[in-house]
Amino acid sequence: MVSTSSTTGRGFEYAPAPESRAIVDIKPSYGLFIDGDFVDGHGSSFKTISPATEEVLAEVAEADDADVDAAVKAARKAQKAWARMPGSERAKYLYRIARIIQERSREIAVLESIDNGKPIKESRDVDVPIAAAHFFYYAGWADKLEYSGFGSTPLGVAGQVIPWNFPLLMLAWKIAPALACGNTVVLKPAETTPLTALLFAEICQQADLPPGVVNLITGAGGTGSALVSHPGIDKVAFTGSTDVGRIIAKAVAGTDKRVTLELGGKAANIVFDDAALDQAVEGIVNGIFFNQGHVCCAGSRLLVQENIFEDLLERLKRRMSTLRMGDPLDKNTDVGAINSGEQLMRIRELSEIGDAEGAERWEVACDLPTKGFWFPPTLFTGVSQAHRIAREEIFGPVLSVLTFRTPSEAVAKANNSPFGLSAGIWTEKGSRILQMASELRAGVVWANTFNKFDPTSPFGGYKESGYGREGGRHGLEAYLR
Ligand code: NDP
Repeated sequence: MVSTSSTTGRGFEYAPAPESRAIVDIKPSYGLFIDGDFVDGHGSSFKTISPATEEVLAEVAEADDADVDAAVKAARKAQKAWARMPGSERAKYLYRIARIIQERSREIAVLESIDNGKPIKESRDVDVPIAAAHFFYYAGWADKLEYSGFGSTPLGVAGQVIPWNFPLLMLAWKIAPALACGNTVVLKPAETTPLTALLFAEICQQADLPPGVVNLITGAGGTGSALVSHPGIDKVAFTGSTDVGRIIAKAVAGTDKRVTLELGGKAANIVFDDAALDQAVEGIVNGIFFNQGHVCCAGSRLLVQENIFEDLLERLKRRMSTLRMGDPLDKNTDVGAINSGEQLMRIRELSEIGDAEGAERWEVACDLPTKGFWFPPTLFTGVSQAHRIAREEIFGPVLSVLTFRTPSEAVAKANNSPFGLSAGIWTEKGSRILQMASELRAGVVWANTFNKFDPTSPFGGYKESGYGREGGRHGLEAYLR
């Protein structure tokens, strides 16, 4: 365990408190989940590793075009009966899945932390409970679709592609509303984090979900591409990078497939001089260091009112120095491993561009493990709006700090981004919150908090952050005709 506080001599020494991995049964190899069963794929296979140790965890099948076709056909075959089933019956399956997620929550959380690298306290307290909450919430809608305002006719078969930052949670965001509305799904998890999706396949079996309603195909970008361009699907739902989002938008242009894209972000977290500063510091830390900054709505641009800049920066550095980085399974860990070597390279590269463009880097002093993928919590000052670290999604634990003088300057700087997913405002004045929120071009605006998620609340972006909403009543629109 690497403790930033112990190596800098500040704070307490914590004894390691590792969560046991004994609860998890990782098989040496996994097939694809098609039509209710695990089957061997026709393609090759790939390895999934622990990003904290680089240990190979399992060999996973890579679905080829024939496998994608088989999964889509299974979903099509199952769809009519699933849609005809009374909503109250579909709801029972969703409730059952939600309860099994709760019952197996410790197992899922440990598996997620091993495969993804995120701290166990986040997978245990955020990812898994919110995933269960999505199934509970949309179970409640299944027999009330006629009151949704979007009709009650499902689209058919949904092809869903998800990223590696919240593997089970993104799966829940995609599958729960689709099933509640009477659609069936084929979902591809990210190449680096397939294991909780495969565990979810077991949960579908345990819940006696009719075969073909949920199909899970593992693989890389090629599998995702084959899925979204398959003529047998009616709807594409994607979360990931803006670049791949663009490729998908082009691939489905001219077809009658419905599309929702949840893409990147470069959120402004705006702190005024009347804010409760220690509370704001907690929100800044949560905004950018939660999940190692692998969060599309991360508060990666801090905008500080100029007259409190020095004070806030000192408090922030002090707080960052107490963050504990290390073993994802240790219950004390605040910051875990970067999800992949590729992502680590991207974070390093953009940070070096920040250095080269003249920004000043400050990072928490700590010893990094020699194995695995690690990047210390870092901030840059002296950042201008033209800097690439102020414009591009770094998707890592790296904060760019800028200043402003007036509310209108804060809004102008916050909106000066190709993205528009989220924003945060820290101030004591309610009127200022309402005014700012109405002027910020962001799908979600948090006030005196950050990174709060709830299944009842719609989430989605403007501009290059994508289109469509997930969550809440609005999330049903994407799955109804
Ligand atoms: P991608 O957008 O490549 O990955 C997201 C998902 O799409 C994965 O399942 C991926 O498969 C799949 N995919 C890749 N190419 C295609 C394609 N042509 N057609 C269909 N599906 C495809 O993100 P990366 O993992 O490459 O991360 C790159 C950057 O994207 C990050 O640095 C970050 O900035 C951003 N990102 C943003 C996310 C967000 O939530 N906004 C989430 C993840 C990344 P596979 O895993 O096999 O590549």
